[in-house]
Amino acid sequence: DVDGLTTPSAGRLLAGLRGLRPCTPLGILAVLDRHGIELAGANAVVIGRSILVGKPIALLLLERNATVTICHSRTRDLAAVVGEADVLIAAAGSPLLVKGDWIRPGAAVVDLGVNMVDGVQVGDVDFDAALGVAGLLTPSRGGVGPLTITMLLRNTLEAYKARTGIADA
Ligand code: NAP
Repeated sequence: DVDGLTTPSAGRLLAGLRGLRPCTPLGILAVLDRHGIELAGANAVVIGRSILVGKPIALLLLERNATVTICHSRTRDLAAVVGEADVLIAAAGSPLLVKGDWIRPGAAVVDLGVNMVDGVQVGDVDFDAALGVAGLLTPSRGGVGPLTITMLLRNTLEAYKARTGIADA
């Protein structure tokens, strides 16, 4: 299950057992780790609760000892919740939902949103407004998308190694 999306894989993630994790959440962690974002003890806010992005990244951030809040379409006062985030994962699929002045100065913001508005791709975060506020900000185009593909390839390699018994070099 190189997508890491089957019910057994989701169950293993929930139970904290070894297994192949979903690719987009792995890409998000790769961005945060590459930029040295401290996750232990951080307030992490995830907007979205899909099985593809929101739930698994919330569990992975919890596994890394962040204090995780999951938001969705019924969340009251989203701006206030976002304002508490040291780490913000925006995965709502709602164009420019997160305004620049919602973001805590210096926060790490990973924008998953892929939305087309008048033929232009925009994220869930108002990128231009967030630029001067966030400490780390990923773009909608060329952000986590390529890393999702990279993680799919990595999962494929890991699955092959596990099946054939090949150890890490
Ligand atoms: P999804 O299944 O449609 O889930 C969206 C989630 O966001 C739902 O939980 C929904 O809440 C919540 N939501 C929607 N509008 C909201 C609002 N105004 N305020 C608060 N929460 C809101 O979408 P998905 O598959 O998780 O994908 C999310 C976005 O990421 C999309 O734009 C998708 O194209 C993109 N994406 C990018 C990559 C990548 O590699 N770059 C990979 C996967 C997805 P409810 O549950 O209450 O309805």
